[in-house]
Amino acid sequence: PEISPTYRRVLLKVSGEALMGKGSFGLDPETVSAIANDVADVHRMGVEVGLVIGGGNIFRGIAAAARGMERAQGDYAGMLATVINALMMQNALENCDVDTRVMSAIHMSSIAEPYIRRRAVRHMEKGRVVIFAAGTGNPFFTTDTAAALRAAEMNCTALFKGTQVDGVYSADPRLDPNATRYEELTYLDVLTQDLNVMDASAISLARENSLPIIVFNIHMPGAFAKVIRGEGRFTRIVD
Ligand code: UDP
Repeated sequence: PEISPTYRRVLLKVSGEALMGKGSFGLDPETVSAIANDVADVHRMGVEVGLVIGGGNIFRGIAAAARGMERAQGDYAGMLATVINALMMQNALENCDVDTRVMSAIHMSSIAEPYIRRRAVRHMEKGRVVIFAAGTGNPFFTTDTAAALRAAEMNCTALFKGTQVDGVYSADPRLDPNATRYEELTYLDVLTQDLNVMDASAISLARENSLPIIVFNIHMPGAFAKVIRGEGRFTRIVD
């Protein structure tokens, strides 16, 4: 099937927590493989895919700061956590025969390429999945913001946020049976109603660059490809 030109090049943000599977810490290899399979499906459709993976399954600066660690130092540790996740994901994607590059915002030349925008674009044009590791490279930011930033830099036509539920709800659907799912929201709705989608700096960056955000459930097998085809359940955030 034809892919909509809307989705010629996309960025997928996956939180670190999505990689834990049923566990409460670290990585579950089967869950990582399942997500890699989904990415591989979309890649086979001819869509150029970039990935930003969080690190919250291993380390969060803000949580460490609450326990007495200097925030910036904790944030650097958090960024390193995203590199561990990126290497795991690279391995899983290669098991699906997808050519992959990890580009890190913090230079670690023995295990990942340094992030250089023009080179990242070239990798994507050549059909390699680029995993953007180490967030923005700056403390006090999050990988949500890194995802919006890289999506804007790569001229992606959409930013996909894979979460634990199939879109944005009026309340947490796992706790509130009356929660309803939104089909479409504006960036301003998300900001003013403080909806838990991505942090405010990520939403603002997407808004300034007219980058649609599509929120869907990353744990439904094949969901990413379905959403790219415009099928399945998701919430679109636009102007
Ligand atoms: N982080 C940072 N700068 C960035 C991205 C991430 O300092 O640009 C740190 C921050 O400490 C954060 C941790 O890395 O808590 C893990 O990232 P995040 O919390 O965004 O991961 P997720 O919630 O998506 O798993």
